[in-house]
Order: sequence, then structure tokens, then C-alpha cells
Amino acid sequence: MPELPEVETVRRGLAPVMEGRRILRVEQRRADLRFPLPERFPQRLKGARIDRLARQAKFLAAHLSTGEVLVMHLGMTGRFTISGQMKGAFHHETGAAESHDHVVFHMEGGETVTYNDPRRFGFMELWPAAEFGAYPRLTQMGPEPLSNHFSADYLGKALAGKAAPIKAALLDQKVVAGLGNIYVCEALYRAGISPKRLSKTIPGQRALRLAPAINAVIAEAIEAGGSSISDFANAEGELGYFQHRFDVYDREGEPCKRCGATVKRIVQSGRSSFYCGGCQK
Ligand code: ZN
Repeated sequence: MPELPEVETVRRGLAPVMEGRRILRVEQRRADLRFPLPERFPQRLKGARIDRLARQAKFLAAHLSTGEVLVMHLGMTGRFTISGQMKGAFHHETGAAESHDHVVFHMEGGETVTYNDPRRFGFMELWPAAEFGAYPRLTQMGPEPLSNHFSADYLGKALAGKAAPIKAALLDQKVVAGLGNIYVCEALYRAGISPKRLSKTIPGQRALRLAPAINAVIAEAIEAGGSSISDFANAEGELGYFQHRFDVYDREGEPCKRCGATVKRIVQSGRSSFYCGGCQK
């Protein structure tokens, strides 16, 4: 599932072919993704220029010259591919549309941007730009890592009264926006905090380390994703799913890089938590 760094990587990969360009034509191949696509979706996008392609948490927001914002969310398995003049027609070189290619944007400049989503938990919506500040899926969210509103002080206050395990609290998008299972595991390792510890019982120094640890793992992942953009044209043109090395995530049974103890896996709220019992208390 793409998390904040992957979505930012997608944004950076799409920006050169979408930002400042007009959408010449949209092919809509089904009526719905997770939700129904907007009414008259291709007609409302045709001819619109994307003035700015922004990201908030895990949402992409294309600000259009028509006064609407095209909001896009990748869900679990959504991905974009670019083909056409700029990148060479590698992914679609046979000309055959893949069965999970649901929306195709034909861009000014000659590229096509294809949205593919086998499980269809992703979605696209159009929202009036003047009311985008009140877009309900975003107004319910807490601050995102690396933003001015996200600090050790903020996080300490947000966790102070919470009885839930810290792992669950950090997955709560109202506490911090855009974090998923992978980067929560990595940040807790970095801060030396057990995923089982109750949010309100994290001692002072480690609590202070948590927000910087979250910022660090997200910043490093965005950097790794950025360096993958230059490589992706040589692969199959998919954006956002880059190789990334993790300290604990998906390393059950392997030695901790810091203390040598065996990395453990437990299941919390139906999700795997990976951690080092030696380093994380
Ligand atoms: Zn360790």
C-alpha cells in the first residue's frame, strides 16, 4: 500500500508531464473505482489545464484551470504509468490496454498517464477549488510529518491521554496524516519504542525522539523515491513503488542492525508489527 513517501514520489514523477499542461482527452473505462467516478468526468476534465499538482497526506490534488480540483487517491494497489513521447512507449508498447487500466489521461505534450488499480480501493473526485479547504477527507486529518504543525510538542499532547498501543495511535490519521504500517514500524525502531507500549506511558526522552524519528524516516524515504524517478523510465514506467531498505519492516528472524538481536513480528489490530526487543522498550 503506498504511504506518504510513495505518493510524493508519484507526484514528482507525474509533475513534468501534467503540471502546466492541458488534459486533451480522458478515457474512462468504468463507472466506479472505490466510489463512483464524478458525473460527466471526461467532459469536465477535457481541455482543463493542471495549474498545480499538489499532495496532501496521501491525496494527490490537481488544481485545474476550470476552478475544480481533481483529487486522486491510490488506495491499496493504484499506480500511474506514463507512456508516450517523453518516456517512450514501454508499458503500453503492444497497444493493448490492460484490464485494470481504468482511467487514461491524454496530455498536451503527447504523453498518456494511465491509472491502473486491480483492487480498486483508489478513487478520483472533483471538488470546487474555492471549497477545497473544507474537503472532508482531509479536514479530519492531523498534521503530516515534515510540516510545521508536526512537532515533538504536538505529538506529546496528542498521545498524552491515549490508552491505545503506540503502533495503533500512529496509524490513526487524526493523530498524524499519511503514515502507514511500514513507516510506523521504522519510526518506532528509530525512536527505541516498543510498538506494544501504551501511548500515554512513553517516557520523556523517547517521547521527544519520536516526532524527529518519524520525520527522518519519511524524509529518507522521499529522498530514496526521488532517486528512483530517474530510474523508472528504464524499468516499466511505474511510479512510486521503489526499492527501499528497511531496518525492521519485513525482516522477521533477521538480526537487528544495531544490537544483533532477532527482529520479531507480532500482529496488532490485524497488521504485522516488526520490532527489535533489544532496542525497543
Ligand atoms: Zn536491536
